[in-house]
Amino acid sequence: MKIFNSLTMTKQEFTPIEPGKVSMYVCGPTVYNLIHIGNARPMIVFDTFRRYLEHKGYEVNYVSNFTDVDDKIIKAAVEEGVTAEEIAKRYIEECRKDMAAMNVKPATTHPQATLEIDGMIEMIGELIRSGHAYEKNGTVYFSTRSFRSYGELSHKNLDDLRSGFRDLKVSGEEEKEDPLDFVLWKPKKEGEPFWTSPWSDGRPGWHIECSVMAKRYLGDTIDIHAGGEDLIFPHHENEIAQSTCANGVPFAHYWMHNAFLNINNKKMSKSLGNFFTVRDIAAQYDLQVLRLFMLSAHYRSPLNFSADLMESAKASLERIRNAAERLRDAAANGPDRELSDRERGILETAQGFTARFDERMDDDNNTADALSVIFDLVRHANTNVQDGAPKALAAGVLDVLTELADVLGLIVLEKKEDLDSEIESMIEQRQAARKARDFATADRIRDELKAKGIELLDTREGVKWKRI
Ligand code: AMP
Ligand code: ZN
Repeated sequence: MKIFNSLTMTKQEFTPIEPGKVSMYVCGPTVYNLIHIGNARPMIVFDTFRRYLEHKGYEVNYVSNFTDVDDKIIKAAVEEGVTAEEIAKRYIEECRKDMAAMNVKPATTHPQATLEIDGMIEMIGELIRSGHAYEKNGTVYFSTRSFRSYGELSHKNLDDLRSGFRDLKVSGEEEKEDPLDFVLWKPKKEGEPFWTSPWSDGRPGWHIECSVMAKRYLGDTIDIHAGGEDLIFPHHENEIAQSTCANGVPFAHYWMHNAFLNINNKKMSKSLGNFFTVRDIAAQYDLQVLRLFMLSAHYRSPLNFSADLMESAKASLERIRNAAERLRDAAANGPDRELSDRERGILETAQGFTARFDERMDDDNNTADALSVIFDLVRHANTNVQDGAPKALAAGVLDVLTELADVLGLIVLEKKEDLDSEIESMIEQRQAARKARDFATADRIRDELKAKGIELLDTREGVKWKRI
């Protein structure tokens, strides 16, 4: 399997540190608002990559943080007159709901910055002791000149950057020894949340959070570190500097970065105000449509959000689902007999699609081409597995389709339990309508149930139902 490594700017064969295991860290959102669909892009593409690693048999330790202390969170708290903690807690909960709705698996661990402050103080102390950081008036800075490889990930010319930064002075940071030095710890301002440290009552800088959480949950050297491409500089460059200097070993072997989700060919971002939240989209579409839309482009290509592309993703999802439903019906109702040679051939061809799918995914997580393989499989099924096909053929083809779709996190068949509870709730609504003598509604619900293949039986013990 090959991964495009931003560090070397080449596609490299993936070799994990420990055979059969993968440690992966993905920078998560700053929680001061509902997440937008730009934030959803790394969640979906790296969740898909994780699912693919698991499909290949790897055990994946997947860590993704919540940044829950930050200027923007404090500002939101002041505006609402609540604590920063309350804002963070609320939006972590909302974010988890959005992730579940997008069928993004929960990480093995979702650490929160505010619960890891001790580890940060310890790492900062270590960096000071080893001469990689210095303190000025309660603020601790990382000394970028102390790390020879600084700039290696972003491939930046440091001298250009230094002169650029010299013109762009941030007030309060005049005491930095070098314009590229960055904050590890800063003193609190009035009314801000703070923690006690040897340098001041204050809070950590953003970059140190990820170095510490990656170390704690994954170890000093990790296999894969991922995030949006805007994080390459300075965030990931700074994470590498901190971790390498504190731990004395390389930080991450592979760096993966997704390109931006744009709108009207401009970056979708909270600060520009040109964004849709995941909730906005959920009001209009099944979020599986959003997921398929995201996966229809290569993760390293910019993707422009548009109503047309969403409609086309919706139609694609329906095509897959219709095929899956037809196969399910055939598997339930078809004749239970041995397959003919021709039918065995059809099934084997279908099973061969897994290798084609894996080949595409092995090429740097190429979900767009992997999706095309799924459409080819759908075409194969529609052409060769007719109604009345034997159970074993339909069930076998369906297994391949659901397995490949599941690697992409696409749900092609509603779960039977979900369907059952939906039917039961419709029956309850119909009973309520009848009780209220609203027979028109009661009849409409009966017809809807009939269209789903559900027959109602009025019995002495109440209404029973069966699939016909
Ligand atoms: P933030 O909350 O801004 O730190 O972003 C959380 C994650 O979303 C980071 O990995 C960002 O790189 C990513 N991200 C933010 N906006 C976009 C966008 N428009 N397209 C793709 N990724 C984004
Ligand atoms: Zn990070």
